[in-house]
Amino acid sequence: MFGWLFKKAKPSKSLPTVQFDSSQVTDEIEEKLLADLKAIPEIKAADFDRIYDAAHTAISRGRDAAHLSNALLTIDGVTKKRAGAIAIHILNRSTVRMNCNRQQSLGITHGKWRFSNAPCADAEMTALHKSLDGRKFKLDEGVVVKGRRIWPGSEEGCRCTHSSIIPGLKE
Ligand SMILES: [Zn+2]
Repeated sequence: MFGWLFKKAKPSKSLPTVQFDSSQVTDEIEEKLLADLKAIPEIKAADFDRIYDAAHTAISRGRDAAHLSNALLTIDGVTKKRAGAIAIHILNRSTVRMNCNRQQSLGITHGKWRFSNAPCADAEMTALHKSLDGRKFKLDEGVVVKGRRIWPGSEEGCRCTHSSIIPGLKE
């Protein structure tokens, strides 16, 4: 009777289910998520709790950008493009932190900056991040640029990643 329903609910081939361990969303990740959301000018006090909940859910589901983007779209004046950009930015920052935490729990202390060869947010960021390609950094400290700590992928529009430096393994 409900055969058509099951057919419809079949997961699409292009979107594999992401296995995500939500215990990665620690108190530290939550605190930093709060701070990240407070830094977004479009999110006013009246919307804050709702957006925080949506962001937390999006992260706990393993990067559900659409969920967070839809919540952001309900804020007056936020366009679809901007909602998407904020969602990706917020999720990227949490992902970078969780990746670093996971690597540290495996005894990995350092990473190496990898420029993706695609431009980051603008010409200035791209030039800077290109110059950081190959730079070794402590996972818990990041790289200090102009007095600010940054990590590959932590800034809005950054496409950089990092590779972990495995202790004892010759590079
Ligand atoms: Zn970058």
